[in-house]
Amino acid sequence: MLREPLIFVGTCDIAGHVRGKGFPARELAARRRKGVGWTHSNLMQSAFGAIFETPFGTGGDLMIVPDAETEVAVDFEDGSAPEHFILGDIRNTDGTPWACCPRDFLRRAIAAVREASALDVLATFEQEFVYTGNEARSGDSYALGAFRRQGIFGEAFVAALRAAGVTPDSFLAEYGPRQFEVTVAPAPALKAADQAVVTREMARATAHRLGHRAVFSPMPVPDGVGNGVHVHFSLWDGQGRPATHDPAGDRGLSTAAAQFAAGVLHHLPAIAAITAPSPVSYLRLTPNRWAPTAIDLAQQDRGAALRICPVFAAADAAETAAQFNLEFRVADGAASPYMVLGALLFAGADGLRHGRALPTGEPPALPRSLAEALDRMEASEAVADWFGPTFRDAYLMHKRAELAHVKDLAAAELCRRYAEVY
Ligand code: GLU
Ligand code: MG
Repeated sequence: MLREPLIFVGTCDIAGHVRGKGFPARELAARRRKGVGWTHSNLMQSAFGAIFETPFGTGGDLMIVPDAETEVAVDFEDGSAPEHFILGDIRNTDGTPWACCPRDFLRRAIAAVREASALDVLATFEQEFVYTGNEARSGDSYALGAFRRQGIFGEAFVAALRAAGVTPDSFLAEYGPRQFEVTVAPAPALKAADQAVVTREMARATAHRLGHRAVFSPMPVPDGVGNGVHVHFSLWDGQGRPATHDPAGDRGLSTAAAQFAAGVLHHLPAIAAITAPSPVSYLRLTPNRWAPTAIDLAQQDRGAALRICPVFAAADAAETAAQFNLEFRVADGAASPYMVLGALLFAGADGLRHGRALPTGEPPALPRSLAEALDRMEASEAVADWFGPTFRDAYLMHKRAELAHVKDLAAAELCRRYAEVY
């Protein structure tokens, strides 16, 4: 059949979806500058697609300008159209960043960390999802049987990741029925978030070609097993030396890492609405799921909000320092990786700037619903400052309008609706 190659340019928006537009690949040179057309109200597209409410009306023009660094061109060699897309930034027509661009939110957060401490963040996203091509069998948790019965999905997915420029680290059958997990190599913060988006899309693209789905919804069924997104991060100085570990520090944390973590814990009630941004996110954040319920930091504890990760088989102190990292567990696949990492870095930068101390005593509970989390976010002056007024108000309106849309659904239907879109 007659075919002409196409390219898609898009961004991972505040609904956590990758949206944008396509064009003939031969036009790429021109599109590198002018991108694809976008408008302010595109930001208000809900998880379900529909715009329930918007402060922007129908007016205005923006562009999504591709960042060549993020180009993905993966041919699955099965006759299907290659996955060819480029992630980018939402800009005003004069080329300046739009105040509500999720990727620029992260870029500003990276700058805030650097300004507070001259440190950089390396990160990677560990992501869980359900592969619908597997039969759900009891006894499958972490099982070789489940690993085998996913067939060629795993191999095709890992090959697609590598072809997309992401270095796969592990692929495994997780605890839940049909649940899998993928981890990839760490990268500087902006690249780590780009790669988290690409990883999700490669899982979906691979499953799609096999006639199935990769479902990243935080809670595909009520009372089931949650899909978490765990963000591992570490601090590095200007000379590329690790700066997260100090053997003499509290639980092995350097002063900077302790202050960063203290900032994250301090702002967690207000940023949960960003990192766990759907109503079903709060069905996951409940007891006995290896998911956090309190605002705490713990060493090697999979129930903590912030986990100090173990160091494996380090031969010397230098290796220990390089491996040492923290894991943020209050995130899930309904959130844009740009927003998750942006919120984490802004909160950490605030901890560094104010020299915050780690909390002591009984840890407070996490927000128990999205409504509560949004109220906490609205009450936070710091969050208002990070977002700027236009973006913050649009974000709150977006999530509250979506909540109103699903408010009458029983848990089973609510989970079904979110599993359909994530
Ligand atoms: N599925 C758990 C979550 O929702 C995490 C399990 C694990 O520790 O890997 O976060
Ligand atoms: Mg896991």
